Amino acid sequence: MSKQETTKPSVAVHKFSSCDGCQLALINMGEPLLVLTQLVDIKHFAEAGPLDENAIVDIAIIEGSVSTSKDLARLQKIRDNSTYIMTIGACATSGGLQALRNMANTKEWIADIYANPSVIDSLDNSTPIKEHVKVDLELWGCPVNEQQILSAIRALLFGVLPKEENDKVCMECKRQQSVCVMVTKNEACMGPVTRTGCGALCPSVGRDCYGCYGPSENPNTNALANRLLGFGLVKEEVARRFLFINSAAKQFQQQGIRLKN
Ligand code: SF4
Ligand code: SF4
Repeated sequence: MSKQETTKPSVAVHKFSSCDGCQLALINMGEPLLVLTQLVDIKHFAEAGPLDENAIVDIAIIEGSVSTSKDLARLQKIRDNSTYIMTIGACATSGGLQALRNMANTKEWIADIYANPSVIDSLDNSTPIKEHVKVDLELWGCPVNEQQILSAIRALLFGVLPKEENDKVCMECKRQQSVCVMVTKNEACMGPVTRTGCGALCPSVGRDCYGCYGPSENPNTNALANRLLGFGLVKEEVARRFLFINSAAKQFQQQGIRLKN
């Protein structure tokens, strides 16, 4: 049963540690966002205007990772106040770029960077939302795209979970008949191990995929690592392809660490 009080379904957009790029993807939807505002009641979306972070809603959309000691209590409250939680973007689904610190000595980094490290409230690890509360749906990407968000909201409002898109980017690339940049230009494309959802955006404009949508289903990371080494890249360079935006996603992390050691 809905927790809403008005007749329209309600939505809140919450931010944790992130660059705001996924919220911008929502705002940049333009006309579809105006249509969405007629279908749902947006209770909280600080970047767009409405403010009520304790609102009880049907769908809570969360951007960003858990990175500070205050995040956990706030996150639990959002879980209690929401029927569904949908996480958007690499930060919320895998810890994001900031999870690179999970492999480093965070305290040393903070001491090196800040004149007064004692004012920094930062956990040693950046972790995805699902590590702390139940998440009903995850949308990967850096950033997510508008079609994913719209179709996910629509499905949730009908009470069904959208089909997970975890095909490899290569599949989408072939469906679009894009020329393969790995075959034709020897570029270090991550498409063979990365999930689609982006519409194979980078290969469609002639550049290599850099893995921002995270691991696909059954990613053969060993085979891809060997192929990239065959292009003449050194192990450290190949490791960086895996340890980038989704460095804390298990399959990418394992391959990246194997190559570094
Ligand atoms: S996933 Fe990427 S675009 Fe989205 S908030 Fe994180 S860093 Fe920004
Ligand atoms: S360009 Fe990349 S994503 Fe497209 S088919 Fe080639 S390896 Fe796969």
